[in-house]
Amino acid sequence: MGLNNIEDYTLDTVMGLIKDSVDAVIAVNGDTARFHAVYKRGFFVDFIEDDGDYNKLIEKLWFHFNDSGEQITEDYHVFIPSLGKFNGKISKRLRIISDGVVHIAQMTIYPIEGTLVNIFVLDELDSSENEEELQTNNKVTTIQNTYLFSMYIDLVKDVTSSISITEISDETVNTQIKYSDWRMMIVNMIWPDDQPTFLERTDSDYLKANFVPGHTSSFDCLMQNLEGKYIWVKLIFSRAETNNEDDFRFVFMVQDIHENTVELMSTLKKYEEMASMDPLTSVLNHGRIETELANAVETARKSKRSVSAMMLDIDFFKKVNDTFGHSVGDMTLKRFASLISSYFTDGRAVVGRWGGEEFVTICYDTDQARLKEIAEDIREKIASEHFKAVGNVTCSIGVTGIGPDDNLTSAFERMDKALYEAKSAGRNCVRES
Ligand code: GH3
Ligand code: MG
Ligand code: MG
Repeated sequence: MGLNNIEDYTLDTVMGLIKDSVDAVIAVNGDTARFHAVYKRGFFVDFIEDDGDYNKLIEKLWFHFNDSGEQITEDYHVFIPSLGKFNGKISKRLRIISDGVVHIAQMTIYPIEGTLVNIFVLDELDSSENEEELQTNNKVTTIQNTYLFSMYIDLVKDVTSSISITEISDETVNTQIKYSDWRMMIVNMIWPDDQPTFLERTDSDYLKANFVPGHTSSFDCLMQNLEGKYIWVKLIFSRAETNNEDDFRFVFMVQDIHENTVELMSTLKKYEEMASMDPLTSVLNHGRIETELANAVETARKSKRSVSAMMLDIDFFKKVNDTFGHSVGDMTLKRFASLISSYFTDGRAVVGRWGGEEFVTICYDTDQARLKEIAEDIREKIASEHFKAVGNVTCSIGVTGIGPDDNLTSAFERMDKALYEAKSAGRNCVRES
């Protein structure tokens, strides 16, 4: 026949020509989740086995889209449990990575009527088509890259009428996953602590009760991504705008907010630290050390851990200011605070500035007798230290143990009384109460 003459073409010649450009034909049984490769050539020869598990095939073809070439985790299968049961023909382009080489293939799925069998026909595109495809893909990725997943839900019929996984494509895939089933599968991908919230917010009755038509709401949680890592996502539910009160159709979306959330959290942490730090001495400020003291009282009340506390006050500090000036006084306070802090490095003690030249230290797993020894050490160390411009500085220390019957006032008053006794006894000494 003359290939230029379109009148010469018949169905048979056309089918023959199409057959020549097809690179793989796979029969899939959606019920048994098995596949059989009817025909394959090119890279498909090695890429696809002759027979095998349908979920594994899907993983290779459908989800093998990112450049990392990393293995998709088992958990991701919850997204695709019923992709063997397509409602209609689907045609789409796939980006397949085999041995580090990117192949673009056109895939068409033909459901065989009256069976659960689907025929997958794959056709690798040549490189010029590839290039065009890659450009299109990149565009889609930049527009939608934060939306990982979205679908339509009809709560009345309890179906998810379509799913689109935007990391893979911008298309819609018709499937028939029951919403109630889908929910119980997805919950396994949610961080355990967030699972109760997920179940509450995705509950059909909850959605019906809390969403008027057109209403959108979201919540953030940790969810496993394709590589099995937990990332921060925003789960967004939006009820369709409808005049019918009994129509409960929703759009559900998962947005990747990981980077922003991690950044936000580290900023919050920084602010929290700033808010609880004394700017001059860099130890905890009054508000925070007071909270720490309250926490210590709680710990002593609830656990058998021994907790003790001490208050340190620089002796005759007013004289330092009067003699050398306020800025030397500040420098002395800084040095003093850093000397106390450097004494406690194992994370079981907290140091704070109570105010002026008074400091408080709370020590865990340390009883009163032990803390008194520590206090003596610190006192000696301070006394033997040379403070720049000032020379010799001493301090008085009041020590107390915190017991299960204490409250914040009683613990503080004992510590304060011990300090007062140290001052009365002539300063540069430790007293306990
Ligand atoms: P005592 O041995 O009885 O503790 O005598 P003291 O002089 O240390 O105690 P007093 O409470 O009379 O004086 C504390 C001084 O600490 C008064 C105040 O000027 C000084 N002070 C408080 N806060 C600061 C500060 O932030 N910087 C400086 N340089 N001085 C401060
Ligand atoms: Mg003082
Ligand atoms: Mg004082």
